Amino acid sequence: MKIVHVSAECYPMAKVGGLADVVGSLPKYQHALGHSAMVIMPMHQTPFLSSHEWELIQESSIPFSNTTLNYSVIKEKNNNLHFELYCINVVGFFDRPNVYGYDDDTDRFLAFQIATMNWLSKWKNLPDLIHVHDHHAGLIPFMLRHCYEFQHLSTIKTVLTIHNAQYQGWMPLQKADYLPSWDKWKSGLLEWDHQLNPLACAIKCADKVTTVSPSYMQELVNDSNGLAYLFKNEKGKCSGIINGIDYEVWDPKTDHFIEAKFNVRNLEKGKRLNKEKICAEFNFDSQLPLFIFIGRFVTEKAADLLPDAISRAFEQFYGKFNMLILGNGDPLIEQALSNMHQKWFGYYHSKIAYNETLSHQMYAGADFLLMPSRVEPCGLNQLYALRYGTIPIVRSTGGLKDTVIDFGNDDGFGICFNQATVDDIVLSIGRALDLYNDNYKVNQIRKKMISINNSWESSAKDYIHLYNSI
Ligand code: ADP
Repeated sequence: MKIVHVSAECYPMAKVGGLADVVGSLPKYQHALGHSAMVIMPMHQTPFLSSHEWELIQESSIPFSNTTLNYSVIKEKNNNLHFELYCINVVGFFDRPNVYGYDDDTDRFLAFQIATMNWLSKWKNLPDLIHVHDHHAGLIPFMLRHCYEFQHLSTIKTVLTIHNAQYQGWMPLQKADYLPSWDKWKSGLLEWDHQLNPLACAIKCADKVTTVSPSYMQELVNDSNGLAYLFKNEKGKCSGIINGIDYEVWDPKTDHFIEAKFNVRNLEKGKRLNKEKICAEFNFDSQLPLFIFIGRFVTEKAADLLPDAISRAFEQFYGKFNMLILGNGDPLIEQALSNMHQKWFGYYHSKIAYNETLSHQMYAGADFLLMPSRVEPCGLNQLYALRYGTIPIVRSTGGLKDTVIDFGNDDGFGICFNQATVDDIVLSIGRALDLYNDNYKVNQIRKKMISINNSWESSAKDYIHLYNSI
């Protein structure tokens, strides 16, 4: 099967969160299953772009509002990603370092999608299936079916995967005029709640819709930032497929970012050496349990609760643990987390940054990973933590519910709580501290976690199975 993925992010070209990890690994595993899988994404000005060799594939232009935009398509030359990576530059829109966060984001991703369709319409060997990811590619299933210019593509099947339904790409309805001319009887497909809503449009137009965990799918039917009714209506074509992790990138046996490589046989020693290294870097006593948080500082991740929860935990268990935070996002949360350095000096550090290397070192060296998320479509951090023998402390929601079982159960290995509240977080830290005192139990749990297979192998097959069903 010839599969084309379209996404705003793809690791290692450009990453903001889990979307990049998924789009950078699923095609690789689909390729291993004997399919041709490629990725089309915007040409963000990232270090990967400047440090790799590229081949020019296409130069053309698209009409956009009352102007014409030139675009070019380049392909990564060495193909050591194990899938073909194509980047589209629409002149004026992608000459910037960040993936998101610009005032003209809606126009940027609108232009990217129109250029993608324009380029696809010139292909001689058409793909069997186009797999679009999140709202940034959400108008593609509509354009494919209903823009006159793309009629010869209209038999290609489409799948939408929702990595996060909080963001929907809303724009004024008038922007629909920017699309290449389309059947005006179909305007209802573009609209949701008096706006042009690319995510809603993709849910209506794609042949199948998936979310990145079964539990998240169930939650969206009740609460999905305004789309619950639509999910109820389209239930028949929706399903949840849990994300896997890329063992080429996330494996303590081979990870070149970490101090000491390890596997299940030398787990105890490997964890100790990695912990000593990271504790030395942040002046922590490595005898104490090390808790970490890694992620975007947004309310979905309940990052706003961290300052209070951590302070309360330090007041209650002073001198009994260390806490290291890595992340960025809401400036108020960044400030609150930075302000705590002095008060809890020697036991607490927050690194306000995006740092891929440090994240690997933290997963490898920590004892516990905190994920109090209010919303978690799948969550990859807990899967990486399991792989690196770090016990996840999670709020049971979405993918966290599907992948972490509380150690109080016979087959359990993590710490789970139900409410995203300061009280529940502090209580869970207390449970973790008790557990840490039982070295035998901790080692048993670590062995169990590291042996769980969360690789893409099984989920990649589930996607192929889904494609075959349409
Ligand atoms: P989301 O996509 O909602 O941000 P996920 O858990 O699905 O959350 O994926 C987050 C990914 O981003 C993981 O690979 C995590 O390690 C990484 N990540 C998040 N914040 C940072 C950061 N500040 N530095 C390094 N990696 C980060």
